[in-house]
Amino acid sequence: MRWTKSLINTLRDDPQEAEIISHKLMIRAGMLRKVSGGLYIFAPLGMRVLKKVQNIVREEMDRAGAIEILMPALQPIKLWEKSGRANQMGASMFRLKDRADNTMVLGPTHEEVVTDYISREINSYRQLPCTVYQIQTKFRDEIRPRFGLMRSKEFVMKDAYSFDVSLDAADASYQAMFDAYTRIFKRCGLKAHPVEADTGTIGGNHSHEFMVLAASGEDGILFCPECHYAANQERAERKTDGSPFKERPAGAVREEVATPGAHTVDEAAAAVGQPSRQIVKSLVYIADGKPVMAIVEGNDELNECKLRRALGCAILEQADIAATEKAVGAPFGSIGPLGVKIPVYADIALKGAKDVTVGANKDGFHVKHVSIEDDVNVTLWADIATVKAGDRCLHCGAPLTMERGIEVGHVFKLGTKYTEKLGAKYLDAQGVPQTMVMGCYGIGVTRTVQAVAEQCNDADGIVWPVSVAPYVVDLVLLDPGSEEVAKAAYALEEALEAQGIDVLVDDRAERPGVKFKDADLIGCPWRVVAGAKALAKGCMEVRRRGEKESRLVPVDEVASTLASEVAGEMALLHSVG
Ligand code: ATP
Ligand code: MG
Repeated sequence: MRWTKSLINTLRDDPQEAEIISHKLMIRAGMLRKVSGGLYIFAPLGMRVLKKVQNIVREEMDRAGAIEILMPALQPIKLWEKSGRANQMGASMFRLKDRADNTMVLGPTHEEVVTDYISREINSYRQLPCTVYQIQTKFRDEIRPRFGLMRSKEFVMKDAYSFDVSLDAADASYQAMFDAYTRIFKRCGLKAHPVEADTGTIGGNHSHEFMVLAASGEDGILFCPECHYAANQERAERKTDGSPFKERPAGAVREEVATPGAHTVDEAAAAVGQPSRQIVKSLVYIADGKPVMAIVEGNDELNECKLRRALGCAILEQADIAATEKAVGAPFGSIGPLGVKIPVYADIALKGAKDVTVGANKDGFHVKHVSIEDDVNVTLWADIATVKAGDRCLHCGAPLTMERGIEVGHVFKLGTKYTEKLGAKYLDAQGVPQTMVMGCYGIGVTRTVQAVAEQCNDADGIVWPVSVAPYVVDLVLLDPGSEEVAKAAYALEEALEAQGIDVLVDDRAERPGVKFKDADLIGCPWRVVAGAKALAKGCMEVRRRGEKESRLVPVDEVASTLASEVAGEMALLHSVG
C-alpha cells in the first residue's frame, strides 16, 4: 500500500481531547478520529489493527471450539424484562421506540438474546456442551466516556456464552475460555494478568478479569507477592484481626464531645485527639429503595460492590444529602450509627471495637469511647471495606501491593441465573427436563487495541507488536524522483507481500526527517529505508522499531531477512507459557 493513496494523516501535536498516552498517540498517528464524546472513527491504519486483533480473537475462539454467530444490536426490551435486568441496567442502556411503539434497546451485552436463542435451538443433553460467540458492536451510555476507545459509548466486544449440563461440565467450558483468553492476549503482544473479579449486575458466582497493567488503568488490582493472590479492588479480601481499639482507657466513659466544624474523618480525629483510624466512617445508601447505614474504620473506604453483595440487592446508590438526613434524622455532616432506626452494616475490621468515635447525629458533636459491639444495633457484620496496599493477604498474611490495570477481558460462571428466567432447558438421558448451566465471556476488542498502544510505546510513538501492527514494514522511499530507487522499493514490496508481510510504502514527497518521524509515530515494527546512497552499495537500511541502529542489508537479502525475523517474533507470540 502506498502512503499517498491511503488517507493517513499524522499530527505533530498532542490533541487537546486526549489525556492518556495511547489515546494521544492513536490520534496523532492517524488511527482514530473523534466524532463526539465516546464515539470514534477507525481511520485506515487503526482499522488494520482492529482487524488483526479481531482475527486473533476469532482464531482462538474457533480453536477453543466456540461457534461464531451474529446477534442483532437492536433488541426488544421484553427479553430484558424476562431476565429482570430492564431496571437494573438503569440509564446506561440506550432505549428507543420502533414505529409500532415497541420499546427497544441497543444491546449493552447479549445474555438475554443468546439464552432465548439457545432455549429454542437446544433441547437434548446430546447437543451440549455448546459455546457460541460473536464479534459485535455494543452500546453503553457510560456516565464518563473517556480515554478514547478505553471507555466509549459504542465499542466492539467479542462475547461468548457457554451452555452445559451441569456445574462441573460448565467448569470445563470456563477453563477453555480462560485458556483461550490467555492465548489471545499473549498473541496481541499484551501482558495481561487474570485476577479475581466482582460479578456486578451480570450476576453469577465466579469470575476473572484479564488486566493489562498501566498507570492510567481505571481498576485497582491487589497482588500478593508471596502467594500470588491477585484480585480487583472491587472484589479483593484481606485478613483482619478486628479492631485494635478493643478496650477503653481506664476510667473513660462514653461521652459526647463538641467538635465544631469537624465533618471529615481527619477533622474529627484532630478535634478529639485520636488517630483517624479510631474514627468510624458512617455512610447511608439506598438499597433497592430502602435506606441502610454502612460503617467502616476511619482509614478505610467503603466498597460498594461488596456492600451490594452483602445486602443481596440489585440497585445500590449512595444517598444524597436530603435522603441521608431523612433516613437518619440528623444533619448530613454529623451522622453516626448510635440509635438509628435503619439497618446498620458494619465492616468486619470493626469487630471487637470497644473504644471508637462516631458522629453524634447532632451538628458539631461526636461521641467518644463508643463500643460498636455493645452500643450499636448491628444488622450484619460483613467484609465491606476496600482493600488497600499494605493490608494483609487473606490467604497468607503477607502485605499486599497495588497496581492499576485496564480490564480487557472478563470471564464469568453464571450458573442458572439466565437459563432459569428464560427457560433454557434440555432433556437429560432419562428424558427429564433440566436447566442449562451457563457461562459468559467478554473481550473489549476496541479497548484491547488501545491497551496495546498503552503498553507498547516510547518517546517517539507506538511500538506495535508484529502480530497487530497496521503494517509490519514501513518502507521509506527516499529520493522518490529516482527511478532506480523506486524500482528496488516496489520490488521489495512485492517480495514481502508474497511472503504474507504487509508493507506501507512511504512514497510522499516529504523530507526524510518527516518520514522517519512518522515511521516512529505510527510504529510499524520494521522500517526499511530505500535511498540512492545505500543502493549505490547494493543495500537498504533495515531497523527494528525501538532499536537505535539500522543495519545495512544487501537488497536481495532484505525480504528473506525480514521474513525470518518476523516469523521468529510471531512464533514467540504464539508460544504459551
Ligand atoms: P468496566 O468495568 O470497564 O465498565 P464492564 O465490567 O462493564 O467493564 P463487561 O460487561 O464485563 O464490562 O464487558 C466485557 C468487556 O468489554 C470488558 O472487559 C471491557 O474490556 C469491554 N468494555 C466494557 N465497557 C466498555 C466501554 N464503555 N468501552 C470500551 N470497552 C468496554
Ligand atoms: Mg467487568
